[in-house]
Amino acid sequence: MIQTGVKRGTARSRGLQTALAACRRRKLEAEHALEKLESENRHLRLLVTLDALTGIANRRCFDERLEIEWKRAARKGSPISIIMVDIDDFKTYNDTYGHQMGDQCLRKVARAMMSLHHRPGDVIARYGGEEFAMVLPETPAEGAHVVGEKLRTCVEALGIGHAASRVGPNVTVSIGAASVIASGEWNAQALLREADEALYLAKKQGRNRVAVTAH
Ligand code: GH3
Ligand code: MG
Ligand code: MG
Repeated sequence: MIQTGVKRGTARSRGLQTALAACRRRKLEAEHALEKLESENRHLRLLVTLDALTGIANRRCFDERLEIEWKRAARKGSPISIIMVDIDDFKTYNDTYGHQMGDQCLRKVARAMMSLHHRPGDVIARYGGEEFAMVLPETPAEGAHVVGEKLRTCVEALGIGHAASRVGPNVTVSIGAASVIASGEWNAQALLREADEALYLAKKQGRNRVAVTAH
């Protein structure tokens, strides 16, 4: 009688141990699946902020960061600048060398501008087509001009031949920058328009140059 009770007890505890082990295994599997999902999620979140062609930040990322940096600057009453970069005569580059070479050129230009030594808060993004944009927090007009010149010269120095360019033998960019001390009277979109107008001026003045407006 006693032996049977022991046997029954042992069988029950073995059953419990098996159930417990199965439970632990399922918990581990669930944890593993969750980790995988989190990692995929991080990857997806990164993908929606990157430009597929060049691998640098995309316009969506730029717009988000601009709003964040604008609010920060407005709170502190600090200077902020926006730079717009546009490849000169890019339509004729495509017409001359083909769309694939055009894409290759965009990648090279993006990589060169990215690899310049930027401040940690600076954001450079492909704004669309052959245009790039940069937000420079804590940066007044003089600083924006220096950064603009660095971008301009680094693209020129790539020496990408452009036989149909009206500017020179190689691919060049025109740059417009706008700077302001952030405040409630201004907003990020108005500063962006100013940078665009400066870019228009740089084009009008002959391209391959930097134009800056400050308030
Ligand atoms: P400007 O000096 O006044 O800027 O002249 P532009 O020819 O660069 O300007 P325009 O706006 O007339 O042409 C822009 C060209 O950029 C037209 C379009 O084919 C090309 N482009 C835009 N996005 C891409 C792209 O993703 N890949 C390639 N290969 N070309 C692109
Ligand atoms: Mg353009
Ligand atoms: Mg252009």
